[in-house]
Amino acid sequence: VSTVDRLAIGLDIGGTKIDAVAADRERRVVGRVRVATDASGGEAVLESAVDAVETLQHTVAARGSSVGAGIPGIVDHLNGTVRNAVNLGIGEEPFAFGPALSDAVGLPVAVENDVNAATLGAALALGLDDLAYLSIGTGLAAGLLVDGRLHRGRRGVAGEIGHVPVDPNGPLCRCGQRGCLEQLASGAAIARRWPSANSPARDLFAAAARGVPEAIVVRDDVVGHLATAVLLLVLTADPYPIVLGGGVSELGVPLLSALQSALSERSERSQLLRSLDLPARLRLLADGLDAAVLGAAAAGAAMASTARP
Ligand SMILES: [Zn+2]
Repeated sequence: VSTVDRLAIGLDIGGTKIDAVAADRERRVVGRVRVATDASGGEAVLESAVDAVETLQHTVAARGSSVGAGIPGIVDHLNGTVRNAVNLGIGEEPFAFGPALSDAVGLPVAVENDVNAATLGAALALGLDDLAYLSIGTGLAAGLLVDGRLHRGRRGVAGEIGHVPVDPNGPLCRCGQRGCLEQLASGAAIARRWPSANSPARDLFAAAARGVPEAIVVRDDVVGHLATAVLLLVLTADPYPIVLGGGVSELGVPLLSALQSALSERSERSQLLRSLDLPARLRLLADGLDAAVLGAAAAGAAMASTARP
């Protein structure tokens, strides 16, 4: 077997689509495809993932040597099971996604929570061994990398700060609690609070920048809750830097500046917060970085290399 042609396949599995890339040993993307996700349960998602791997291999006219999959939900990376992935129709019963995908495509498969996969990808892109990745996408969650290793926690739930309840009178969350951060300051929350056919986050920030009073109120409230998410991360794990990711982070500098201002404002009132350099911790990833797929591909390649004698 030629090692020169070793291709690491990375999958980013979402509720509507799967992005797949093939990366060479220098982590250059040599092929990419996108297929639709059948999100009607574990078996259906599995079939979509098999489709993504096969379509990708056909596109690059080569077989991969490993697969890494980033998937929403609570993942046990040791046995490749996934549970509580509401957007995929996977419930509380663990679904053995990794072993089933490995059987179907004939390759070693590593499975990571999607935010953890993106955390790995961000760390590779920035060349860092320590960071937090705050994913502001449909949901709100964070990944923690400590000394080059993901901190997953006992149940794989470390960093799920989107489900910290902050408003007892807030909207009911899919997790069963009320007023979770995710219900107030995620992509889905923005879409509910500032409905728009195109990009709710972009439209909200644009309207606020034009001085629309209602938009300023919603934007400042969203940013305030994101500042709380940053503070939660710092006070529990003290990570540096905190990389902003997920769909909402594509707002770029306007989001970064607003969040830094909110953190500075809070720091003015608190000696403790002032000592933590909160605004200086935030980073944006360069446009178009494939953090999730490349992180997943790296996880798959690392697993394949340790599995070999
Ligand atoms: Zn919740």
